[in-house]
Amino acid sequence: MAWRHALLLTPAASDDVRTDFADTFTVIDPSAPALSVGELSTQRGDGIFESIGVVDGHAQEVDAHLERLAHSAQLCDLPVPNVVQWRQAVTAAASECPAGECVIKLILSRGVEHGPTPTAWVTVATAPDNSAVRERGIRVVILDRGYDSAAPARAPWLLLGAKTLSYATNMAAIREAHRRGSDDAVFVSSDGILLEGPTSSLILRQGDRFVTPAPGAGILHGTTQLSLFAWLESQGYETGYETLPVSALHEADAAWLLSSVRLAAGITSVDGAPLPYDAAFTASINRYLLSPRD
Ligand code: PLP
Repeated sequence: MAWRHALLLTPAASDDVRTDFADTFTVIDPSAPALSVGELSTQRGDGIFESIGVVDGHAQEVDAHLERLAHSAQLCDLPVPNVVQWRQAVTAAASECPAGECVIKLILSRGVEHGPTPTAWVTVATAPDNSAVRERGIRVVILDRGYDSAAPARAPWLLLGAKTLSYATNMAAIREAHRRGSDDAVFVSSDGILLEGPTSSLILRQGDRFVTPAPGAGILHGTTQLSLFAWLESQGYETGYETLPVSALHEADAAWLLSSVRLAAGITSVDGAPLPYDAAFTASINRYLLSPRD
């Protein structure tokens, strides 16, 4: 990733009613060291983040990302983010994005051990070229996440529905998929319920109905999935959140992994077995996802 810009934020309290937070932003050199060695984000992965897609300078679905940041903060007992401040930081970051696709990352960490405040920063980078994957699709393997479907409710300290900085296991799952000759993975619960990709949401097509695993199952509620479901409904399709067994993926008429930067990647095979792949429909989904969305 080519880093283009970075801002440190002095986090404002959620009830701070100022309308202009510009003086809480400090522009920093994105290629120079910036964090203290005592940072708990680096020492323990103790923090949360969001990755926002930017197309031709327009940051996509900012409100949905800020809502999820606030939800993750609540699950992790971090201070509630001041949404006005973060929205202004996103606007400032988006103004640094050239034409084409970029990624804005929002990061809120618990800060320095025994320090006074959380640490917050925003980065801007050029997005990788995802055109080939959007056109040709991806092969996936099914990987056991190791938790049963009741674990998120029984053990909320696992933070399964929060977008935490602890993505080492998610990255390990993608490496395992590569070792098995595939491009990406779909997690299932240990009792065989479909969950999500390590960095994406799963959507299945069943005739003219599109379904996705319910977010209550300890998965992230994808901003791209939410936005796509609204578009599919406007096109006359039905959508729904369901508890889906693994067989639903094998039997789907088509399936995609969706995320804010890669957008829609059609699944061409599952554990080596081909899945129907609709290149034209996938292209129309990605045209929608690349259009300005709020
Ligand atoms: N699930 C996980 C675990 C993710 O990391 C992501 C992407 O960040 C998603 C789902 C999809 O979310 P979004 O569409 O908001 O990028």
